[in-house]
Amino acid sequence: MVLGGNLPNSELPTWVALSPVTRVPVRDDLSALEGYHSPQVDVRVRLNTNEAPVAPPQAFREAYAEAISDIEWHRYPDRAASGLRSAIADLHGVSPEMVFVANGSNEVLQTVLLTFAGPGRTVATFEPTYQLHSHIARITGATVIEGERSTDFSLDVNEVRRVINEFHPHVTFLCSPNNPTGGVDSPELVAEVLALSTGLVVVDEAYGQFAPWSALELINEETPLVVTRTFSKTWSMAAARLGYLIGPRWLVAELDKVVLPYHLDTAKQIAGTLAVQFQGDMEERVRTIVAERERLVNALASLDVDVFESGANFILVRPRSKSGRTVWQGLLDRSVLIRDCSSWPRLADCLRVTIGTPEQDDIFLKALTEVLS
Ligand code: PMP
Repeated sequence: MVLGGNLPNSELPTWVALSPVTRVPVRDDLSALEGYHSPQVDVRVRLNTNEAPVAPPQAFREAYAEAISDIEWHRYPDRAASGLRSAIADLHGVSPEMVFVANGSNEVLQTVLLTFAGPGRTVATFEPTYQLHSHIARITGATVIEGERSTDFSLDVNEVRRVINEFHPHVTFLCSPNNPTGGVDSPELVAEVLALSTGLVVVDEAYGQFAPWSALELINEETPLVVTRTFSKTWSMAAARLGYLIGPRWLVAELDKVVLPYHLDTAKQIAGTLAVQFQGDMEERVRTIVAERERLVNALASLDVDVFESGANFILVRPRSKSGRTVWQGLLDRSVLIRDCSSWPRLADCLRVTIGTPEQDDIFLKALTEVLS
């Protein structure tokens, strides 16, 4: 490719004149952006990405295999994903027009931010929290206001008041349970955020089913509140990339205008529609994981680590006498992979472990005990 055609170098924009080959500059506001990474390593026990420790039931796999054999491959998918929307709506006792579905809740968040953030607008997060909230907001061109969590990672209502009253964010993110810290926001706090905010409030409930309450109960047509959920955790379907949002009808209609047409393929729509027929299995899995979480919390209490309260399928810990990085490496040396958050802002020495099967968790506990001793 010849950049600038026959123009002499002196008449070209600087970036073309300096560029020896075919690289073109990214948007100025994106040049400092770093990608989102979750390193994968081949190990015996993998507890680093908050997936479910077990696959969905065999009956689901069989029903799915049968259903996809009938796909009309030469046709576009149902653009409105009406069957899937209805199935999710039934799950929550809402109308299908209140359901927006996308490729993972990440795409749900992206569509929300494309619709309500963007250049000249502000998005508030309370850090540390799920990194993609601020990451995607910045990609849309919005200004991110980072509020601070308290030292125990809970949200102080005074800080929420400061951020909202000072910056009037167009979008305010809550994450409950919060990734990576695990805490659940109280109904009183969410109500307070709603009362203070003049913009949209997003409650990211990727781990919502593990928690004792859900902001879903606060959704109605008059409140600018949405709750996002995913099939990646409790539904044991991270491979499918499927997520959704429940919100007011008018808001879902706006998202439908922004998202790409036919973004949800037919196979995925089938997977989601069939999955919700196995709600009972999902709830049983959640009960098992919550019980296992409590067992792990109790076991960790006798080790030399601080343990943060969790309402999710993971636990954040902070070793007291060794650095987080040393402990993470020691676990990896024993073929146990957990998430190293120790170099992330505000999370010095912190490590996040996903709840696995009892066998995996026992291997983790044994390895951790060795590393800490
Ligand atoms: N929100 C939170 C808080 C998460 O932790 C995750 C996954 N790590 C997501 C959203 C995205 O989930 P997915 O795109 O797999 O639905």
